[in-house]
Amino acid sequence: MEVLYKSTRGKQAAITASEAILKGLSEDGGLYVPTEIPKLNISLEKLSKMSYQEVAFEVMRCFLTDFTEEELKDCIRKAYDSKFDTEEIAPLKEAGGRYYLELFHGATIAFKDMALSILPHLMVTAAKKNQIKKEIVILTATSGDTGKAAMAGFSDVPGTKIIVFYPKNGVSPVQEKQMVTQKGNNTYVVGIHGNFDDAQTAVKEMFNDKEMASLLDREGFQFSSANSINIGRLVPQIVYYVYAYASLIRKGCIKEGQEINVVVPTGNFGNILAAFYAKQMGLPINKLICASNENKVLYDFFSTGTYDRRREFILTNSPSMDILISSNLERLIYYISGQEASICSELMNGLNQGGAYTITEEMKEKLSDFYGNYCTEEETAATIAKVYKQSGYVLDTHTAVAAGVYDKYEKSTGDTHPVVIASTASPYKFSRSVMKGILETVEEPDDFVLADRLSEISGVPVPKAVQDIRTAPVLHDCVVNVSDMPETVLHILGIR
Ligand SMILES: *Cc1c(COP(=O)(O)O)cnc(C)c1O
Repeated sequence: MEVLYKSTRGKQAAITASEAILKGLSEDGGLYVPTEIPKLNISLEKLSKMSYQEVAFEVMRCFLTDFTEEELKDCIRKAYDSKFDTEEIAPLKEAGGRYYLELFHGATIAFKDMALSILPHLMVTAAKKNQIKKEIVILTATSGDTGKAAMAGFSDVPGTKIIVFYPKNGVSPVQEKQMVTQKGNNTYVVGIHGNFDDAQTAVKEMFNDKEMASLLDREGFQFSSANSINIGRLVPQIVYYVYAYASLIRKGCIKEGQEINVVVPTGNFGNILAAFYAKQMGLPINKLICASNENKVLYDFFSTGTYDRRREFILTNSPSMDILISSNLERLIYYISGQEASICSELMNGLNQGGAYTITEEMKEKLSDFYGNYCTEEETAATIAKVYKQSGYVLDTHTAVAAGVYDKYEKSTGDTHPVVIASTASPYKFSRSVMKGILETVEEPDDFVLADRLSEISGVPVPKAVQDIRTAPVLHDCVVNVSDMPETVLHILGIR
Protein backbone atom coordinates (compact mmCIF):
# COMPACT_ATOMS: atom_id res chain seq x y z
CA MET A 1 0.00 0.00 0.00
CA GLU A 2 1.35 3.40 -0.93
CA VAL A 3 1.16 5.96 1.87
CA LEU A 4 0.93 9.61 0.80
CA TYR A 5 1.09 12.75 2.91
CA LYS A 6 -1.27 15.69 3.07
CA SER A 7 -1.48 18.87 5.07
CA THR A 8 -3.50 19.10 8.30
CA ARG A 9 -4.85 22.43 7.07
CA GLY A 10 -5.27 22.34 3.32
CA LYS A 11 -6.95 20.59 0.48
CA GLN A 12 -3.86 20.33 -1.72
CA ALA A 13 -2.97 17.09 -3.44
CA ALA A 14 -1.14 14.55 -1.34
CA ILE A 15 2.62 14.16 -1.88
CA THR A 16 5.07 11.32 -1.40
CA ALA A 17 7.00 10.66 1.81
CA SER A 18 10.28 11.83 0.27
CA GLU A 19 8.68 15.09 -0.89
CA ALA A 20 7.20 15.67 2.57
CA ILE A 21 10.60 15.10 4.19
CA LEU A 22 12.20 17.65 1.88
CA LYS A 23 9.48 20.24 2.45
CA GLY A 24 9.18 19.86 6.22
CA LEU A 25 6.16 22.13 6.58
CA SER A 26 3.29 22.56 4.12
CA GLU A 27 2.89 25.98 2.42
CA ASP A 28 -0.46 26.50 4.12
CA GLY A 29 1.26 26.28 7.51
CA GLY A 30 -0.09 22.79 8.21
CA LEU A 31 1.88 19.66 9.09
CA TYR A 32 2.10 16.63 6.84
CA VAL A 33 0.15 13.58 7.96
CA PRO A 34 -0.17 10.15 6.34
CA THR A 35 -3.44 9.77 4.41
CA GLU A 36 -3.86 6.52 6.30
CA ILE A 37 -1.91 5.08 9.23
CA PRO A 38 -0.59 1.74 7.99
CA LYS A 39 -0.92 -1.47 10.02
CA LEU A 40 2.12 -3.43 11.16
CA ASN A 41 2.18 -6.35 8.76
CA ILE A 42 4.54 -8.57 10.69
CA SER A 43 3.87 -10.39 13.96
CA LEU A 44 5.15 -8.98 17.24
CA GLU A 45 6.59 -12.41 17.99
CA LYS A 46 8.78 -12.13 14.88
CA LEU A 47 9.78 -8.57 15.78
CA SER A 48 10.83 -9.77 19.24
CA LYS A 49 13.66 -11.71 17.62
CA MET A 50 14.98 -8.75 15.66
CA SER A 51 17.66 -6.13 16.26
CA TYR A 52 16.76 -2.44 16.63
CA GLN A 53 17.84 -1.83 13.04
CA GLU A 54 15.66 -4.66 11.74
CA VAL A 55 12.63 -3.42 13.67
CA ALA A 56 13.32 0.09 12.36
CA PHE A 57 13.19 -1.23 8.82
CA GLU A 58 9.90 -3.09 9.36
CA VAL A 59 8.21 -0.02 10.87
CA MET A 60 9.63 2.68 8.61
CA ARG A 61 8.93 0.78 5.39
CA CYS A 62 5.19 1.00 6.24
CA PHE A 63 5.32 4.82 6.21
CA LEU A 64 8.09 5.74 3.76
CA THR A 65 6.70 3.75 0.89
CA ASP A 66 8.50 5.57 -1.92
CA PHE A 67 11.91 4.62 -0.47
CA THR A 68 13.34 1.38 -1.82
CA GLU A 69 14.34 -1.41 0.54
CA GLU A 70 17.99 -0.70 -0.28
CA GLU A 71 17.67 3.03 0.41
CA LEU A 72 15.91 2.58 3.72
CA LYS A 73 18.33 -0.07 4.95
CA ASP A 74 21.24 2.14 3.98
CA CYS A 75 19.82 5.10 5.96
CA ILE A 76 19.19 2.88 9.00
CA ARG A 77 22.68 1.37 8.87
CA LYS A 78 24.31 4.79 8.74
CA ALA A 79 22.16 6.19 11.57
CA TYR A 80 22.15 3.47 14.20
CA ASP A 81 25.81 2.54 14.40
CA SER A 82 28.67 3.09 16.82
CA LYS A 83 27.49 6.68 17.44
CA PHE A 84 25.34 4.91 20.03
CA ASP A 85 27.16 3.64 23.08
CA THR A 86 25.20 0.37 23.18
CA GLU A 87 24.44 -2.15 20.45
CA GLU A 88 20.88 -2.38 21.71
CA ILE A 89 20.42 1.30 20.70
CA ALA A 90 17.34 1.65 22.97
CA PRO A 91 17.72 -0.67 25.99
CA LEU A 92 14.80 -1.39 28.29
CA LYS A 93 15.73 -1.31 32.00
CA GLU A 94 13.58 -2.57 34.84
CA ALA A 95 13.50 -0.61 38.11
CA GLY A 96 10.89 -0.86 40.86
CA GLY A 97 8.60 -2.97 38.67
CA ARG A 98 8.53 -0.44 35.82
CA TYR A 99 10.31 -0.53 32.49
CA TYR A 100 12.38 2.45 31.44
CA LEU A 101 13.02 2.74 27.72
CA GLU A 102 16.43 4.42 27.60
CA LEU A 103 16.46 6.68 24.56
CA PHE A 104 19.64 8.49 25.51
CA HIS A 105 22.47 6.36 24.21
CA GLY A 106 23.22 8.52 21.16
CA ALA A 107 25.69 11.33 20.53
CA THR A 108 24.04 13.99 22.71
CA ILE A 109 22.62 11.66 25.39
CA ALA A 110 19.00 12.72 24.86
CA PHE A 111 16.20 11.14 22.85
CA LYS A 112 16.31 13.64 19.97
CA ASP A 113 19.31 11.64 18.72
CA MET A 114 16.93 8.78 17.87
CA ALA A 115 15.37 10.81 15.05
CA LEU A 116 18.15 13.26 14.24
CA SER A 117 20.65 10.48 13.57
CA ILE A 118 18.59 9.27 10.65
CA LEU A 119 16.92 12.45 9.35
CA PRO A 120 20.03 13.65 7.43
CA HIS A 121 20.26 10.35 5.58
CA LEU A 122 16.54 10.34 4.79
CA MET A 123 16.87 13.90 3.51
CA VAL A 124 19.88 13.24 1.28
CA THR A 125 18.14 10.14 -0.12
CA ALA A 126 14.92 12.11 -0.65
CA ALA A 127 16.88 14.81 -2.52
CA LYS A 128 18.41 12.21 -4.84
CA LYS A 129 15.02 10.59 -5.48
CA ASN A 130 13.55 13.95 -6.44
CA GLN A 131 16.49 14.89 -8.67
CA ILE A 132 17.53 17.76 -6.45
CA LYS A 133 21.17 18.47 -7.18
CA LYS A 134 21.59 21.38 -4.84
CA GLU A 135 23.37 21.21 -1.54
CA ILE A 136 20.96 21.18 1.41
CA VAL A 137 21.56 23.86 4.00
CA ILE A 138 19.93 23.17 7.36
CA LEU A 139 19.21 26.37 9.29
CA THR A 140 18.30 25.96 12.94
CA ALA A 141 17.72 28.21 15.91
CA THR A 142 18.19 26.37 19.17
CA SER A 143 17.60 26.93 22.85
CA GLY A 144 20.28 24.34 23.56
CA ASP A 145 19.43 20.72 22.80
CA THR A 146 18.06 20.47 19.28
CA GLY A 147 20.97 22.35 17.71
CA LYS A 148 23.57 19.98 19.07
CA ALA A 149 21.59 16.85 18.20
CA ALA A 150 20.99 18.16 14.66
CA MET A 151 24.68 18.97 14.19
CA ALA A 152 25.74 15.58 15.46
CA GLY A 153 23.37 14.03 12.92
CA PHE A 154 24.38 16.15 9.95
CA SER A 155 28.10 16.30 10.71
CA ASP A 156 30.08 15.19 7.63
CA VAL A 157 26.96 13.98 5.79
CA PRO A 158 27.83 14.64 2.11
CA GLY A 159 25.58 17.07 0.27
CA THR A 160 24.59 18.98 3.43
CA LYS A 161 25.66 21.91 5.55
CA ILE A 162 24.21 22.85 8.91
CA ILE A 163 24.18 26.29 10.50
CA VAL A 164 23.00 26.65 14.10
CA PHE A 165 22.23 29.94 15.85
CA TYR A 166 21.98 30.02 19.64
CA PRO A 167 21.50 32.81 22.21
CA LYS A 168 25.02 33.55 23.46
CA ASN A 169 23.85 34.08 27.04
CA GLY A 170 20.80 31.85 26.97
CA VAL A 171 22.08 28.27 27.13
CA SER A 172 23.70 26.25 29.93
CA PRO A 173 27.52 26.04 30.07
CA VAL A 174 27.43 22.33 29.21
CA GLN A 175 25.07 22.94 26.29
CA GLU A 176 27.32 25.71 24.94
CA LYS A 177 30.42 23.57 25.34
CA GLN A 178 28.68 20.72 23.51
CA MET A 179 27.93 22.99 20.57
CA VAL A 180 31.14 24.99 20.20
CA THR A 181 33.24 21.82 20.24
CA GLN A 182 31.22 20.23 17.42
CA LYS A 183 33.41 18.58 14.79
CA GLY A 184 32.62 18.12 11.11
CA ASN A 185 33.66 20.16 8.10
CA ASN A 186 30.04 21.11 7.28
CA THR A 187 28.92 22.34 10.73
CA TYR A 188 28.70 26.00 11.74
CA VAL A 189 27.70 27.33 15.15
CA VAL A 190 27.00 31.01 15.68
CA GLY A 191 26.12 32.76 18.95
CA ILE A 192 23.83 35.77 18.74
CA HIS A 193 23.39 38.83 20.91
CA GLY A 194 19.73 38.16 21.63
CA ASN A 195 17.41 35.51 23.03
CA PHE A 196 16.03 32.31 21.53
CA ASP A 197 12.95 34.05 20.11
CA ASP A 198 15.17 36.55 18.26
CA ALA A 199 17.14 33.69 16.73
CA GLN A 200 13.99 31.75 15.84
CA THR A 201 12.29 34.78 14.25
CA ALA A 202 15.35 35.65 12.16
CA VAL A 203 15.66 32.06 10.94
CA LYS A 204 11.97 31.99 9.95
CA GLU A 205 12.47 35.26 8.05
CA MET A 206 15.36 33.77 6.14
CA PHE A 207 13.21 30.76 5.19
CA ASN A 208 10.57 33.13 3.79
CA ASP A 209 13.00 35.52 2.09
CA LYS A 210 12.37 35.07 -1.65
CA GLU A 211 15.40 37.11 -2.67
CA MET A 212 17.70 35.05 -0.51
CA ALA A 213 16.14 31.85 -1.87
CA SER A 214 16.87 32.81 -5.48
CA LEU A 215 20.40 33.87 -4.59
CA LEU A 216 20.97 30.50 -2.94
CA ASP A 217 19.37 28.72 -5.87
CA ARG A 218 21.81 30.34 -8.32
CA GLU A 219 24.72 29.28 -6.15
CA GLY A 220 23.49 25.68 -5.85
CA PHE A 221 22.03 25.69 -2.33
CA GLN A 222 18.61 25.10 -0.83
CA PHE A 223 17.40 25.67 2.75
CA SER A 224 15.75 22.92 4.73
CA SER A 225 14.64 22.43 8.30
CA ALA A 226 15.36 19.75 10.86
CA ASN A 227 12.75 20.69 13.42
CA SER A 228 10.40 18.26 15.03
CA ILE A 229 7.42 18.73 12.75
CA ASN A 230 9.20 17.04 9.84
CA ILE A 231 7.69 13.58 9.29
CA GLY A 232 11.27 12.43 8.81
CA ARG A 233 11.63 13.01 12.53
CA LEU A 234 8.28 11.57 13.53
CA VAL A 235 8.43 8.21 11.75
CA PRO A 236 11.77 7.07 13.28
CA GLN A 237 10.24 7.69 16.71
CA ILE A 238 7.46 5.14 16.17
CA VAL A 239 10.16 2.49 15.98
CA TYR A 240 11.25 2.54 19.59
CA TYR A 241 7.78 1.86 20.98
CA VAL A 242 7.49 -1.20 18.77
CA TYR A 243 11.00 -2.20 19.80
CA ALA A 244 10.14 -1.73 23.50
CA TYR A 245 7.12 -3.99 23.14
CA ALA A 246 9.18 -6.56 21.26
CA SER A 247 11.83 -6.39 24.01
CA LEU A 248 9.18 -7.10 26.67
CA ILE A 249 8.19 -10.26 24.77
CA ARG A 250 11.82 -11.27 24.32
CA LYS A 251 12.53 -10.86 28.02
CA GLY A 252 9.44 -12.91 28.89
CA CYS A 253 7.76 -10.00 30.69
CA ILE A 254 4.60 -10.09 28.55
CA LYS A 255 2.82 -12.39 26.13
CA GLU A 256 2.24 -11.31 22.54
CA GLY A 257 -0.98 -9.30 22.42
CA GLN A 258 -0.98 -8.25 26.09
CA GLU A 259 -1.65 -4.54 26.54
CA ILE A 260 0.86 -2.16 28.12
CA ASN A 261 0.76 1.46 29.24
CA VAL A 262 3.18 4.02 27.86
CA VAL A 263 4.24 7.20 29.68
CA VAL A 264 5.94 10.05 27.82
CA PRO A 265 7.44 13.25 29.27
CA THR A 266 6.04 15.73 26.80
CA GLY A 267 6.85 19.14 25.36
CA ASN A 268 6.20 19.57 21.66
CA PHE A 269 4.02 16.41 21.57
CA GLY A 270 6.24 14.66 19.02
CA ASN A 271 7.36 11.71 21.09
CA ILE A 272 3.90 10.83 22.43
CA LEU A 273 2.34 11.30 19.01
CA ALA A 274 4.72 8.63 17.74
CA ALA A 275 3.39 6.31 20.48
CA PHE A 276 -0.16 7.12 19.34
CA TYR A 277 0.78 6.22 15.76
CA ALA A 278 2.29 2.97 17.05
CA LYS A 279 -1.01 2.17 18.73
CA GLN A 280 -2.91 2.96 15.51
CA MET A 281 -0.55 0.57 13.70
CA GLY A 282 -1.80 -2.18 15.99
CA LEU A 283 0.66 -2.15 18.88
CA PRO A 284 -1.27 -3.30 21.98
CA ILE A 285 -1.17 -0.11 24.05
CA ASN A 286 -3.83 0.54 26.69
CA LYS A 287 -3.22 4.14 27.82
CA LEU A 288 -0.95 6.83 26.46
CA ILE A 289 0.06 8.91 29.44
CA CYS A 290 1.07 12.46 28.69
CA ALA A 291 3.30 13.91 31.43
CA SER A 292 3.92 17.65 31.71
CA ASN A 293 5.97 19.83 34.03
CA GLU A 294 4.59 23.06 35.51
CA ASN A 295 3.97 24.34 31.97
CA LYS A 296 0.88 22.14 32.10
CA VAL A 297 -0.96 23.39 29.03
CA LEU A 298 -1.46 19.80 27.80
CA TYR A 299 -2.83 18.57 31.13
CA ASP A 300 -5.37 21.38 31.03
CA PHE A 301 -6.22 20.48 27.45
CA PHE A 302 -6.85 16.81 28.24
CA SER A 303 -8.96 17.68 31.26
CA THR A 304 -11.03 20.53 29.79
CA GLY A 305 -10.88 20.28 25.99
CA THR A 306 -9.53 23.83 25.83
CA TYR A 307 -5.98 24.53 24.71
CA ASP A 308 -4.89 27.89 26.10
CA ARG A 309 -1.36 29.19 25.72
CA ARG A 310 -2.17 32.54 27.39
CA ARG A 311 -0.25 31.96 30.59
CA GLU A 312 3.10 32.59 32.20
CA PHE A 313 6.05 30.67 30.77
CA ILE A 314 7.75 28.86 33.66
CA LEU A 315 11.45 27.97 33.62
CA THR A 316 11.81 24.50 35.16
CA ASN A 317 14.55 21.93 35.71
CA SER A 318 13.12 19.92 32.82
CA PRO A 319 13.81 22.68 30.26
CA SER A 320 13.21 20.57 27.14
CA MET A 321 9.56 20.42 28.17
CA ASP A 322 9.21 24.16 28.80
CA ILE A 323 6.83 24.78 25.94
CA LEU A 324 3.46 26.49 25.62
CA ILE A 325 2.74 25.68 21.97
CA SER A 326 2.96 21.94 21.40
CA SER A 327 3.21 21.97 17.61
CA ASN A 328 2.66 18.28 17.01
CA LEU A 329 -0.66 18.29 18.86
CA GLU A 330 -2.05 19.64 15.59
CA ARG A 331 -1.67 16.17 14.08
CA LEU A 332 -3.80 14.65 16.84
CA ILE A 333 -6.39 17.42 16.47
CA TYR A 334 -6.57 16.61 12.78
CA TYR A 335 -7.07 12.95 13.55
CA ILE A 336 -9.86 13.46 16.11
CA SER A 337 -11.60 15.93 13.80
CA GLY A 338 -12.21 12.98 11.48
CA GLN A 339 -9.35 14.16 9.24
CA GLU A 340 -11.18 17.39 8.42
CA ALA A 341 -8.55 19.93 7.40
CA SER A 342 -11.05 22.79 7.60
CA ILE A 343 -11.86 22.10 11.27
CA CYS A 344 -8.19 21.72 12.15
CA SER A 345 -7.30 24.87 10.26
CA GLU A 346 -9.97 26.89 12.06
CA LEU A 347 -8.80 25.74 15.50
CA MET A 348 -5.16 26.51 14.69
CA ASN A 349 -6.13 29.98 13.50
CA GLY A 350 -7.84 30.45 16.84
CA LEU A 351 -4.60 29.53 18.57
CA ASN A 352 -2.52 31.88 16.43
CA GLN A 353 -4.84 34.83 16.74
CA GLY A 354 -6.54 34.49 20.10
CA GLY A 355 -4.11 32.16 21.89
CA ALA A 356 -6.68 29.43 22.55
CA TYR A 357 -9.19 26.98 21.06
CA THR A 358 -11.78 24.51 22.35
CA ILE A 359 -12.60 21.18 20.75
CA THR A 360 -16.13 19.74 20.52
CA GLU A 361 -17.48 17.08 22.91
CA GLU A 362 -17.41 14.60 20.06
CA MET A 363 -13.71 15.25 19.48
CA LYS A 364 -13.00 15.05 23.19
CA GLU A 365 -14.52 11.57 23.34
CA LYS A 366 -11.92 10.42 20.84
CA LEU A 367 -9.16 11.29 23.32
CA SER A 368 -9.99 8.39 25.62
CA ASP A 369 -6.68 6.68 24.74
CA PHE A 370 -4.91 9.49 26.58
CA TYR A 371 -4.44 10.44 30.21
CA GLY A 372 -2.72 13.72 31.08
CA ASN A 373 -1.22 14.96 34.33
CA TYR A 374 1.74 17.00 35.55
CA CYS A 375 4.39 17.23 38.27
CA THR A 376 5.52 20.29 40.17
CA GLU A 377 9.25 20.95 40.60
CA GLU A 378 9.09 19.55 44.16
CA GLU A 379 7.29 16.39 43.03
CA THR A 380 9.88 15.86 40.30
CA ALA A 381 12.82 16.16 42.70
CA ALA A 382 11.07 13.86 45.19
CA THR A 383 10.52 11.27 42.45
CA ILE A 384 14.24 11.24 41.59
CA ALA A 385 15.06 10.67 45.28
CA LYS A 386 12.37 8.02 45.76
CA VAL A 387 13.30 5.93 42.72
CA TYR A 388 16.98 6.14 43.63
CA LYS A 389 16.34 5.05 47.21
CA GLN A 390 14.06 2.20 46.17
CA SER A 391 16.07 0.74 43.33
CA GLY A 392 19.38 2.56 42.92
CA TYR A 393 18.26 3.68 39.46
CA VAL A 394 18.85 7.36 38.65
CA LEU A 395 16.32 9.27 36.53
CA ASP A 396 16.94 12.54 34.76
CA THR A 397 14.52 15.40 35.48
CA HIS A 398 12.36 14.85 32.37
CA THR A 399 11.98 11.13 32.97
CA ALA A 400 11.22 11.88 36.63
CA VAL A 401 8.26 14.02 35.55
CA ALA A 402 6.95 10.97 33.69
CA ALA A 403 7.52 8.61 36.63
CA GLY A 404 5.86 11.06 39.04
CA VAL A 405 2.83 11.37 36.79
CA TYR A 406 2.55 7.59 36.60
CA ASP A 407 2.43 7.46 40.41
CA LYS A 408 -0.59 9.76 40.25
CA TYR A 409 -2.19 7.69 37.49
CA GLU A 410 -1.74 4.41 39.38
CA LYS A 411 -3.09 5.91 42.55
CA SER A 412 -6.23 7.27 40.94
CA THR A 413 -7.00 4.26 38.71
CA GLY A 414 -5.49 1.17 40.33
CA ASP A 415 -4.43 0.14 36.80
CA THR A 416 -1.92 -2.75 36.86
CA HIS A 417 -0.86 -3.00 33.20
CA PRO A 418 2.88 -3.38 32.63
CA VAL A 419 4.26 0.07 31.97
CA VAL A 420 6.98 1.49 29.74
CA ILE A 421 8.28 4.94 30.66
CA ALA A 422 10.11 6.82 27.92
CA SER A 423 13.43 7.85 29.45
CA THR A 424 14.35 10.85 27.36
CA ALA A 425 17.68 12.05 28.73
CA SER A 426 20.68 10.72 30.57
CA PRO A 427 20.85 11.97 34.17
CA TYR A 428 24.35 13.18 33.24
CA LYS A 429 22.85 15.83 31.01
CA PHE A 430 21.26 17.41 34.09
CA SER A 431 23.70 16.32 36.82
CA ARG A 432 23.09 19.32 39.02
CA SER A 433 19.29 19.04 39.23
CA VAL A 434 19.53 15.28 39.61
CA MET A 435 22.08 15.50 42.43
CA LYS A 436 19.93 18.12 44.14
CA GLY A 437 17.02 15.70 43.95
CA ILE A 438 19.03 12.96 45.62
CA LEU A 439 21.11 14.95 48.13
CA GLU A 440 18.82 17.99 48.57
CA THR A 441 21.74 20.45 48.67
CA VAL A 442 24.73 20.60 46.37
CA GLU A 443 27.67 22.95 46.98
CA GLU A 444 30.06 21.77 44.26
CA PRO A 445 30.30 24.51 41.58
CA ASP A 446 31.78 22.39 38.76
CA ASP A 447 29.27 20.35 36.74
CA PHE A 448 31.93 17.91 35.60
CA VAL A 449 32.97 17.11 39.17
CA LEU A 450 29.28 16.60 39.95
CA ALA A 451 29.11 14.11 37.10
CA ASP A 452 31.90 12.12 38.78
CA ARG A 453 29.96 12.13 42.06
CA LEU A 454 26.84 10.97 40.28
CA SER A 455 28.84 8.12 38.80
CA GLU A 456 30.03 7.07 42.26
CA ILE A 457 26.54 6.86 43.69
CA SER A 458 24.81 5.37 40.63
CA GLY A 459 27.49 2.94 39.54
CA VAL A 460 26.93 4.06 35.93
CA PRO A 461 30.07 5.33 34.18
CA VAL A 462 30.11 8.96 33.02
CA PRO A 463 29.02 8.78 29.35
CA LYS A 464 31.60 9.41 26.66
CA ALA A 465 29.59 12.41 25.41
CA VAL A 466 30.26 14.17 28.74
CA GLN A 467 33.88 13.00 29.04
CA ASP A 468 34.65 14.20 25.53
CA ILE A 469 33.54 17.81 26.00
CA ARG A 470 35.53 18.15 29.19
CA THR A 471 38.74 18.57 27.26
CA ALA A 472 37.57 19.11 23.69
CA PRO A 473 38.93 22.20 21.93
CA VAL A 474 36.56 25.05 21.06
CA LEU A 475 36.11 25.07 17.28
CA HIS A 476 33.44 27.75 16.90
CA ASP A 477 33.65 31.23 18.41
CA CYS A 478 31.60 33.43 16.10
CA VAL A 479 29.08 35.77 17.77
CA VAL A 480 26.95 38.20 15.72
CA ASN A 481 24.11 40.69 16.05
CA VAL A 482 20.65 39.46 15.13
CA SER A 483 20.49 41.87 12.18
CA ASP A 484 23.67 40.35 10.73
CA MET A 485 22.39 36.77 10.68
CA PRO A 486 21.53 36.68 6.92
CA GLU A 487 24.94 38.13 6.00
CA THR A 488 26.58 35.54 8.22
CA VAL A 489 24.78 32.73 6.39
CA LEU A 490 25.81 34.07 2.98
CA HIS A 491 29.36 34.43 4.20
CA ILE A 492 29.48 30.86 5.53
CA LEU A 493 28.20 29.59 2.17
CA GLY A 494 30.90 31.54 0.38
CA ILE A 495 28.35 33.65 -1.50
CA ARG A 496 29.60 36.93 -0.06
C1 LIG B 1 12.54 17.33 23.52
C2 LIG B 1 12.52 16.60 24.82
C3 LIG B 1 11.31 16.18 25.43
C4 LIG B 1 9.94 16.50 24.83
O1 LIG B 1 9.69 15.76 23.68
P1 LIG B 1 8.54 16.20 22.67
O2 LIG B 1 8.63 15.30 21.52
O3 LIG B 1 8.86 17.63 22.32
O4 LIG B 1 7.25 16.11 23.41
C5 LIG B 1 11.37 15.47 26.62
N1 LIG B 1 12.56 15.21 27.21
C6 LIG B 1 13.73 15.59 26.67
C7 LIG B 1 14.99 15.28 27.38
C8 LIG B 1 13.76 16.30 25.46
O5 LIG B 1 14.94 16.68 24.93
